[in-house]
Amino acid sequence: MKDKLSKIEEEALQAVTVVTSEVELQQLRARYLGRKGEITAVMKGMGQLSPEERPLAGALANEVKDRLETAFAVRQESLRQELMQQKLASESLDVTLPGRKQGRGYKHPITQVTEEVVAIFSALGFGVAEGPEIEKDFYNFEALNIPKDHPARDMQDTFYVSEEVVLRTHTSPVQIRTMLEQEPPVRVVAPGTVYRRDSDVTHSPMFHQIEGFLVDERVTFGDLKGILTTFITEFFGSNVDVRFRPSFFPFTEPSAEVDIQCVICGGSGCRVCGQTGWLEILGSGMIDPEVFKSVNYDPEKYSGFAFGMGIERIAMLKYGVNDLRLFFENDLRFLKQF
Ligand SMILES: [Zn+2]
Repeated sequence: MKDKLSKIEEEALQAVTVVTSEVELQQLRARYLGRKGEITAVMKGMGQLSPEERPLAGALANEVKDRLETAFAVRQESLRQELMQQKLASESLDVTLPGRKQGRGYKHPITQVTEEVVAIFSALGFGVAEGPEIEKDFYNFEALNIPKDHPARDMQDTFYVSEEVVLRTHTSPVQIRTMLEQEPPVRVVAPGTVYRRDSDVTHSPMFHQIEGFLVDERVTFGDLKGILTTFITEFFGSNVDVRFRPSFFPFTEPSAEVDIQCVICGGSGCRVCGQTGWLEILGSGMIDPEVFKSVNYDPEKYSGFAFGMGIERIAMLKYGVNDLRLFFENDLRFLKQF
């Protein structure tokens, strides 16, 4: 029996050295140490030995079994190492390659400019108000001192939804809605989308405006000039000249258009400013007492000013964009520049 065990051990140890994979090693292990393996078979045969011989043979068989277990374990570890070395040698990883960039979203330049304008007026104490884009004739025209037969209606080409409902042509109806809900003092800016039947290099049927107004006791034209000059200085830079030019709007009296020194030529005259050296950027004025009457404010007690500007226009001037349509074509090569 002792010889038989020695022979099995010798054979098994020899076999272990020549296996080349873990699978083969498992099979070999089953052949010697498994439930139907050779060592197991020898141990089962011990029943036939005499009671004196049995403990000795059992101890011997266990020793052989332990030695083989150890040999299998050692070989398994060395096979794993070999496999790892092979993999390291055959697969290469270049850690110096740059990673793949994640695509990032950007805010549209119109949104960026709107937010910038709102932020400047917020710092001056203005709140933000919004209103519907599909608007009643009353809020868009009537309450703003533009009755049905008023020639000023010709100034705007309007999209009519029905006789009494329009796509708002300006953000001014938000002024009316706000004043109908709040008593003075009010200080609000109203950004939003507006619609006009117009389309060319400098006009789009859908564009954006920001409207602002301030109503309180003893508000003067000097306040209007101060606030708007502060805004322009913040938005375009402190070195830009500003001028106020008399104008006409139905809802303000007196009215003024505001020009800045041409940002392209610096005032010397170019194609963009029509050789004048000035660019018109917004309309403004003292709110007409007729408008106060339609929102039940006492014109004897209160005064105020209002202003409005096209977001696309000031964005074009600030960034030197020469075609309004670029803002709406959603070409990423254009949009990513902001
Ligand atoms: Zn110019």
